[in-house]
Order: sequence, then C-alpha cells, then structure tokens
Amino acid sequence: MSKIFRRISNKFPSKDITKEDLKNKLILISKKEEIEIKLNNKFFLKKNNLAIIAGPNGVENIDMMFKTVDFLVKQKINIIRGHVFKPLTFPYRSNTYSESGIQGLVWMDEIKKYYKKITIVTEVTEIKYLERILLTSDILQIGSRNMQNFELIKEVARSKKIIILKRHFGASLRDFLAAAEHILVENNKNLILCERGIVAPHTHRVTSRFILDIQGIVALKELTNYPVISDPSHASFWAPWVEKLALASVASGCDGLIIEVHPNPRFSKVDPLQALNFNQFKRLKHKILSLCRFFHKKLI
Ligand code: PEP
Ligand code: MN
Repeated sequence: MSKIFRRISNKFPSKDITKEDLKNKLILISKKEEIEIKLNNKFFLKKNNLAIIAGPNGVENIDMMFKTVDFLVKQKINIIRGHVFKPLTFPYRSNTYSESGIQGLVWMDEIKKYYKKITIVTEVTEIKYLERILLTSDILQIGSRNMQNFELIKEVARSKKIIILKRHFGASLRDFLAAAEHILVENNKNLILCERGIVAPHTHRVTSRFILDIQGIVALKELTNYPVISDPSHASFWAPWVEKLALASVASGCDGLIIEVHPNPRFSKVDPLQALNFNQFKRLKHKILSLCRFFHKKLI
C-alpha cells in the first residue's frame, strides 16, 4: 500500500454502501433505534402502521381542493398532499398552469378550518417561503430535484417539522441516505424517506419516465429504521399502473404511500396521466386494507 493511499480516508469511494460508510458517514441514519413519528401528538409512523398520503399534484383552486379533501376525509384519509410551489422540469408554464403560491396556502388554511382533522403535506422549494409554509403545512416535502440542496435541507430541518425527503431519480441509496443524514445532524428526527422512481434505460412504457425501485425499498428497510414510503404515482406517471405498484410497495415493506388523486384527472393541470380518480382510489384503498390485514399492519 503506497503512502498516499494510506493517508486517504475515503479509500473505497463507491455508489454502494460499505461497512465503513455505515460506521463513519451514515452514522445517525443507520442507527438501529426505534423511530416513531408523531403527528398532532398521535403516532403516525411507527412499526406496523401504514400511512396513506393522498391529494392532487398542485393546489389548483379552492373548489377542487374542497372536493378532493371531502372525498378523502370520507375515505378516512386525513393526510392531504398538495403543492403550491413546484419545481417544473421545463421553464415554460402552459397558459393553464401557474403555481398557486401563497394563495394556495390561504386556500388550504380555509380547508383546514373546515376539516379540523386533516394535516397538510406541501413542498418547500425556497428558503424564503419556509416561514409562511410553516403556518399552514404539518409535513414539509423536499422534492427529488432538491434532494442535494443542502442549504435548503438544513434550514427546513431546523424547523423541527416532519420532513419527507424524496430520493432523486438518479441518486444511489448512498447519496440518498447521505442527504437524510444532513437532516438528522440538525437534530431533527422527524424524517420520512420516499422512493419515487429512478431513471432506467427501459421503463416498459414510453410515458413512464421513471421506474419504481421496489428493491430500493427493501434495501432501505434493511439499512435504516426511519420510515420509508413509496410514491407510485410519480414513479409510473401512469394511473392504470398505480394500484399494482402501490400494492407491491406495501408488500415490499414500505411504511406508507403517496397517491395522487384528482376529481377529474384529465383536467389536472400537472401530470394528468398519473392521478387516480375517486373510484380508482376507493378500489385501491380497499385492496390496501386487505394487504394490511395480511401483514398485520394498521392503516392510518
Ligand atoms: C411531487 O410530489 O409533486 C413531486 C414533484 O415529486 P418529485 O419531487 O418526486 O418529482
Ligand atoms: Mn408532481
């Protein structure tokens, strides 16, 4: 072994996780302690619970949000997703789509006043909006495209709110867990990891940009005790596949799902191909309940 090699601490840089990584770099995320995440003082994610987060892609207008939340609450789904800020791949907005921004948060505040039990998940894209988002949102999402935006992640972590960290579609589990470690070193243990599809040479359908990494879910569950959830809507980009991928995710051991739901998916302003309509969602929920019984999990 040459002298230079001996002096290098990172001797085996790799995209896969080595024992050394677990010991020296992924210190907190790989700690095998019991992790229980509380939402409104009640256990939300813990061993043997399965959480469903559902809602439209974007908070388009108040009527659509009321309609969707009303349906979901009747389905006993109280964790509602809906983004008001969205990093879009292309810089051009269509003339029908624009982010609802702060106005979208005001609509959600109104909806929360009406449906007292619901909690909101929304994405934070810029530090400058964090303070305002914290007034409305119970869970903060760091989207795939910001998985390694460490300044944003640190600031969001310091809020001590629950964070859903989405895996970037090109990230190894090593990079994903390293990003998560940035949250934990800020002393925020309210962390949920989300698999949402990765880029692969073949996705079996031209409209599917990503492929759901089921194997990644299994591996993550081995590497960390933090909850792992799955977003089959973004992974497949294709509503008819969402049900089967959601069920496969539950079977692979995930702790929760993010499912996109829209009263009329064809008219969804973003990603209209991936949202489930109300009937499709009802059918999916029914099947998830059966799987929960099989795996002795409680649907929350
Ligand atoms: C989303 O949840 O709406 C989203 C854009 O997800 P992702 O960051 O995984 O693409
Ligand atoms: Mn989206």
